[in-house]
This record gives sequence, C-alpha cells and structure tokens, in this order.
Amino acid sequence: RAFNFNAGPSALPLEVLEKAQKELVNFNNSGMSIMEMSHRSKDYEAVHNDAIARLKSLYSIPDNYEVLFLQGGGSLQFTMVPMNLLKEGQTASYILTGSWSEKAWKEAKLLGITKEAASTKGNAYRNIPALDDIQFSDTDAYVHLTSNNTIFGTQWKDFPLTGNVPLVADMSSDILSKPIDVSSFGIIYAGAQKNLGPSGVTIVIIRKDLLENAKTDIPTILKYSTHADSNSLYNTPPTFGIYMLGEVLKWVEEKGGLQAIEKNNEEKAKLIYDVIDNSNGFYTGHASNESRSLMNITFRVADEELEKQFLAEAKEAGFVGLNGHRSVGGCRASTYNAVPYETCKALADFMIAFQNKNH
Ligand code: PLP
Repeated sequence: RAFNFNAGPSALPLEVLEKAQKELVNFNNSGMSIMEMSHRSKDYEAVHNDAIARLKSLYSIPDNYEVLFLQGGGSLQFTMVPMNLLKEGQTASYILTGSWSEKAWKEAKLLGITKEAASTKGNAYRNIPALDDIQFSDTDAYVHLTSNNTIFGTQWKDFPLTGNVPLVADMSSDILSKPIDVSSFGIIYAGAQKNLGPSGVTIVIIRKDLLENAKTDIPTILKYSTHADSNSLYNTPPTFGIYMLGEVLKWVEEKGGLQAIEKNNEEKAKLIYDVIDNSNGFYTGHASNESRSLMNITFRVADEELEKQFLAEAKEAGFVGLNGHRSVGGCRASTYNAVPYETCKALADFMIAFQNKNH
C-alpha cells in the first residue's frame, strides 16, 4: 500500500476496500454487484437505512435531526444552504478561515444579504478567530463556518455558541474524526471523500425545524425537505458510495468509535508536528499552534530549493500527496482517519532523515 497523504479523495481503510472487493460482483448472494441493484430493492434499502442508523448512533444524533445523502459535494451545499435558509430581508453571517469558507460565502452573496462575522485572512489564515471576535446578530438566518480548513491546516477546537441562530458547519475535512455535539448545530454538511468513503455522496445532518421553515420557492431537487421526505431516495442516490460509507461507519465502530478515532488521530498528527517543532526551523508549520489541524498538517521546508528536493525525494520514497494545495504551495500531509499510524511514523522518520542529510 502506498503511503497515501492525499487531501481528497484520500486513503480508505484497507479492510473496507478488501471487503468491498470480495462483495463486488456478488453482493449478499444476489449474483449482482450492489452497483447493479435497483435503489428501490430490499437489499439496497437495507444498506441505505443501515448507513443512516450507524451515523445517527456514532454521533448520538438527536431525534429532531434528519440525516440526508445528497450529491454535488460540499460545493453544492455552499448554494443549498443559503437557497433554503436565507430569506428575503434576512442576513447570514460567514466566518472566514480559508478558501473553502470564502467559496461558501461567495455563493451566499449571489442569493441574499450576507455579512462577515470574523476573518483571519489578514494573518494568512494561520489561525481560527477567538470566539469573542465573532460578530453576528440574533436575527441572522444562520452563522456559517468551516470546521477544518483543508488548505491552510487549521481546525476549530471549540465552536461558537450562537443561541437561537442556527450554526451551519462545513465539516467536509474533519467529519467523523472526533466526537461532536450535533445539537449545537443547525446543519452539518460534508462531502464523503476524506473520512467517509469515496467521492459522490454528501451527507447533510439538518435540524427538523430548519426543514419546516425553509424557503419553498426553489427547485424541487435543491430543497432539503424533498430529500428528507423521501429518505434520500427522491432520485437515484449514489448507491455504491452509500454502501462504502456504511462499511466505513462499521470500521469506525470496530476501531472503538469516535473517541478512539480521535485519540488515534491525535497520536498520528503529534508524530509529524513533533518533527516540525523539534527541527530548529528546518521545517515550519503554517498554522499557529493553538489552531493546528489534526487532519491536514501544512508546513514549509527552510528554503525553496530544499523544499523541491524534499518533495521529490519523498515521492521517490513512496509518499503520495505531500504537495501543498496548488493555491498556497509548500507541503501538506493529510492524516485522515484511514491513514495508519505506521504511515505517519514513516513520514516522521523520513523528515528527520532528510533534515539530518541536508541541514
Ligand atoms: N469544503 C471543504 C472544507 C473542502 O475541503 C472541500 C474539498 O476539498 C470542499 C468543501 C469542496 O468539496 P467538493 O469537492 O466535495 O465539492
């Protein structure tokens, strides 16, 4: 197996891939692949409902929330959130912590009145804003944030308390990486391709009152209520992706649930952050220490030529996906749930050896 640090799509658990491989051409003794089955069949519906139930159980999702399986990625949610929630005469507040929150805000601006609740752009998005610096009003339709900033490598540790104003979170890059109190959010959305499974399915966890009070004069397929009313079977869902999501959820359960996953993620990230911190400036992290992400570790090598050499030698040694996002450069190691501890240890060892050779 490659040492896969891709930011997304990213590594999947080997056990899940192997099980899927075994079942690929003959699911449940049907003589068919799950991909070949009707989405209205009993076999498929069992897989679909099982995935919803497992997600509810892992996160202890309260009964006043719906779990939806949609398509269109995190990016379509940038549009669906304001389309459903932002009514005429209302405002929505956006917390800017990186490129993805900027993109979410850009879409909302096309659909209604928005405000900046806080931004760390002036600090090159090295940190998450202090909770006291977040400004919104009691009458806002919602406050939007990005819980993990995939490109800059920062992550929220504590979320703002928004009272009656629904908090909407794009959790595309840290969903399922740690326990979360779902009841503090109005909507949580995430594309699957980092921690949940292959790309193609997007999960939305939405409080039921937001479904009931949503705008009605929008296209049917873009209404959350359409999907809630049909158990996410309004049209053909991405059946294979949902099957894989179910298998990933079983894998998380087998690993001991979200608390155990979080502990493992902390240990993995620490291996690499420790190398950066102990390198006497040979490696420098992009994120401020208190805002560091456990999912995307962003760093630079002391000089540009050495950085190129680092990335080239790492590639040669079998490490995949260590180039930073094309918009910011540098290096990035994405240590999502499925990246094994040993893979992170191999990278930490490689970084130390590279420094020893070149400092
Ligand atoms: N939000 C975050 C935090 C992301 O990291 C990404 C993609 O990497 C997106 C949204 C966009 O997701 P998609 O490609 O599924 O539309």
